[in-house]
Amino acid sequence: MTCIQIPGGIVCVQPKFKAGDPAPEGYLAWHDWAEVQHKAGLRQKRCGCCGKWKFQQEMSDTAVCNMCAA
Ligand SMILES: [Zn+2]
Repeated sequence: MTCIQIPGGIVCVQPKFKAGDPAPEGYLAWHDWAEVQHKAGLRQKRCGCCGKWKFQQEMSDTAVCNMCAA
């Protein structure tokens, strides 16, 4: 659940992520997204370059993440 402050109140939206969706921008959205991926059975793999754990959507290929490949 992501809540946004607007004039006159707060709006809360439930991001609708699906398994296999590309990783979203933003910390809160990423965590919602990652939870969906994990519940769907996807597991993170370790990037061979930076050593961070990434879902397959965040991997450039089987060994290196998008950040390292960029
Ligand atoms: Zn990396």
